[in-house]
Amino acid sequence: MSVQHDPVQRADFDQFMVPNYAPAAFVPVRGQGSRVWDQSGRELIDFAGGIAVNVLGHCHPALVAALTEQANCMWHISNVFTNEPALRLARKLVDATFAERVFFCNSGAEANEAAFKLARRVAHDRFGPDKCEIIAAVNSFHGRTLFTVSVGGQPKYSDGFGPKIQGITHVPFNDLAALKAAISDKTCAVVLEPVQGEGGVLPAEQAYLEGARKLCDEHHALLIFDEVQCGMGRTGELFAYMHYGVTPDILSSAKSLGGGFPIGAMLTTAELAKHLAVGTHGTTYGGNPLACAVGEAVLDTINTPAVLAGVKRKHEQFASRLRAIGAKYGLFSEVRGLGLLIGAVLSDAWKGKAKTVLDAAAAEGVLVLQASPDVVRFAPSLVVDEVDINEGLDRFERAVAHLTQA
Ligand SMILES: *Cc1c(COP(=O)(O)O)cnc(C)c1O
Repeated sequence: MSVQHDPVQRADFDQFMVPNYAPAAFVPVRGQGSRVWDQSGRELIDFAGGIAVNVLGHCHPALVAALTEQANCMWHISNVFTNEPALRLARKLVDATFAERVFFCNSGAEANEAAFKLARRVAHDRFGPDKCEIIAAVNSFHGRTLFTVSVGGQPKYSDGFGPKIQGITHVPFNDLAALKAAISDKTCAVVLEPVQGEGGVLPAEQAYLEGARKLCDEHHALLIFDEVQCGMGRTGELFAYMHYGVTPDILSSAKSLGGGFPIGAMLTTAELAKHLAVGTHGTTYGGNPLACAVGEAVLDTINTPAVLAGVKRKHEQFASRLRAIGAKYGLFSEVRGLGLLIGAVLSDAWKGKAKTVLDAAAAEGVLVLQASPDVVRFAPSLVVDEVDINEGLDRFERAVAHLTQA
């Protein structure tokens, strides 16, 4: 049955692909649970989770079943029609959250693009064209389209592409006074990641999100939570806003929502959703039956007390072991994060060297991530088992030992 493919190597990347990435020297070919194998047959433990995407590891049977069943039924039909998987997933997301309406798209950037356009549209309809300003946090990340890099708080992603989207202000994260000083009646939305992911796995403080909610209400601005990375079970609650008990007006989801199949979603209330009337916004693939069938299986599998409680338990396992490793080798100054989104902050001696740690870990057979050059990030499968956690952290410790004793 299996097709004979032409052989390819890592070197082909440099020959045929746009050089906007710098992929590892090896090429993963297969994954099962929290383990992956490369072209040479070497096995690695995966604590990177495809950058917080593979929420149920690789080739989870429930996701494989949902995808194959849908693949044999219908792949695409366009938004000229609706389809059953999209309707089922939308209903389940509404049942499980504050939201009353769902817009599907294909990525986190698209979910945020829809969120920002909705916020501007609502303000335009209700208050006129002057209320169009968006406040975001320094070091935030919201995607790579021009609107989302303009809103994101990292000049390294937004500079050098000509004029940015106007009307965006950046304030320091977790600084309520700065937000209060920046917000005005021209503000249409404040957008925050409840846990800043790319910026270094930095959770919001409780009082900050509560204060942001209050300031938004006082200024008729919408509160947008970007839960592309921290949502879908990652914090041990289905969405991070539930952890804080602070409800946004608009929430963006992607990454883990598809467990590895591309999908994004913007969740909001019925009252706000009606501002995106027929024809105001759209996407060819949004709500694609394959993506929604997988998303439904992801949601069904992770939104259970057992899986979510497991996330909190596993956090302790990771965090305590990482703290011990950090103390023993002088590598980390702090281990932070929520659930299975964990950041180990490098100590002064190792500042800027996250990539070095990541490469050393891969050489020992464990995949981890960085979040900024100063933080080693862990975003494993939510159903990673004890054996894989212990074996992966053993490998990680061996890598750290080599690195620090070299
Ligand atoms: C990854 C990420 C995005 C962008 O998602 P894409 O699917 O890459 O477009 C947006 N926001 C946050 C918080 C993310 O972590």
